[in-house]
Amino acid sequence: MDIDPRSAGNIATLRKDAQGKAREWLLQCLEAGINVKVICGTRTYQEQAALYAKGRTTRGPKVTNAQAGYSWHNFGVAWDFVVFDANGNPLWDSPLMERCGKIAESLGLEWGGGWTGFKDTPHIQIKTGCTLADARQRVKDGKWWA
Ligand SMILES: [Zn+2]
Repeated sequence: MDIDPRSAGNIATLRKDAQGKAREWLLQCLEAGINVKVICGTRTYQEQAALYAKGRTTRGPKVTNAQAGYSWHNFGVAWDFVVFDANGNPLWDSPLMERCGKIAESLGLEWGGGWTGFKDTPHIQIKTGCTLADARQRVKDGKWWA
């Protein structure tokens, strides 16, 4: 099984420990015959701030409620995925999305579709054992990405 270039590129943006987990997860999904890709990996604080501005101070609809430093995507430990049909159309509501999420959970990962309250079905992250505030501090201290 080969990881497609788009997924590989997004996985490469993750922290080293998350890269290994993301590959393991993706390969299991592919082996299950699911056409899934990683469509988002790390977003820098700057990228997150630009995203947060959408629908607030720049044009377009709101796309996130997370400011810079308030999304796990800013810390290289989260990625988003979507399942595709044979023509390359994303299937956001496919039951296979849940299949992929369950595979993530079976690997000890946190799946956004399993959250109570707000569900983020395309979202997976590794369990870091710390809060976003801890993560922001460790970034400041230069200890996060090491
Ligand atoms: Zn996400």
